[in-house]
Amino acid sequence: MLASPAIAVAEPSLEIGKGERLLVLAPHPDDETLSSAGLIQQVLQQGGSVRSTVVTSGDAYVGAVMLDSGKRNPSAADYLDFGEKRLEESRRAAEILGKGFVHLDLLGFSDGSIYSALVSHWRRNNPMRSEFTGFDHVPYRQAEDHGFAQDGQDLLNELVAILQDTKPTIIAFPDVMENDSDHAGLGMFTLLAVHNWLLQNPTQRPQPKLLAYLIHWQHGWPTGSNWGIAQDWSDQPLLLPPDLPLRGHSRACINLSPAQINLKRAALAEYKTQQRIMGDFLSAFVRSSECFTQLKPRDGKRIEQVLEHWRQVRKAFDNHPLSRRKI
Ligand SMILES: [Zn+2]
Repeated sequence: MLASPAIAVAEPSLEIGKGERLLVLAPHPDDETLSSAGLIQQVLQQGGSVRSTVVTSGDAYVGAVMLDSGKRNPSAADYLDFGEKRLEESRRAAEILGKGFVHLDLLGFSDGSIYSALVSHWRRNNPMRSEFTGFDHVPYRQAEDHGFAQDGQDLLNELVAILQDTKPTIIAFPDVMENDSDHAGLGMFTLLAVHNWLLQNPTQRPQPKLLAYLIHWQHGWPTGSNWGIAQDWSDQPLLLPPDLPLRGHSRACINLSPAQINLKRAALAEYKTQQRIMGDFLSAFVRSSECFTQLKPRDGKRIEQVLEHWRQVRKAFDNHPLSRRKI
């Protein structure tokens, strides 16, 4: 039996001003489009600028590499070949979304490296080595960070440098509650980087809007994402799941026009390696809205405190899966 459709609850709409500087941070190629294709288009249409930073190459998606290489046991070269393809797909998707006006950084880190860089490979003399490609530094020649060691301190420095260079007014980044280690890890790295950046620039005004997006959750969210076949959901909103803890923050959404929805679909179509294996999942994000949890770092509530609070909520959530709804 199918679950009854969720009752659409109107979320407050996100205000996008003229000339915003949007920074989208993505763990893997496609997350920037899944989460923020509409936001990117609306910022550009309002005369703003967009920078999109994709941290890993997504080169360790084993099922997809098996499909792509036609091998049951892909080699390191197959994983590298797959990573190169995904980086190229990201480039084409950004070109479609921004028509040449998205500043794209493909850092090229190993898939799966973000969380382990945060928790166990912080220093440059102990970088994270991918068990798939065999590299402990960025192997992709076309990546911005080619040759960089895969460690937490270097990634954090890189993100702070990007913030310093971009001075974003809006930052879209993965929620630390995400059910994927790279996603949750980049959520933490983002908060740390924003914290460090603002410490170095205490007079920075305006402070950026912090928009946490969600890609991986539980119970088959969003509807249709595990149906095995791509569907057209574009006449329905994409609301955040009701069991995602609010944590004292608010939610904000943007509505996409039919043209913006079509461009999002076209950009996602460039991710051919992903469409082949998870077309149902990608199509479930092509909907009439994009929603975010909006953090409020202002009013004396420093990002440091926000970060600490999120760490605690994350820990409680992981330790007590049955009480998730109560958090
Ligand atoms: Zn991802």
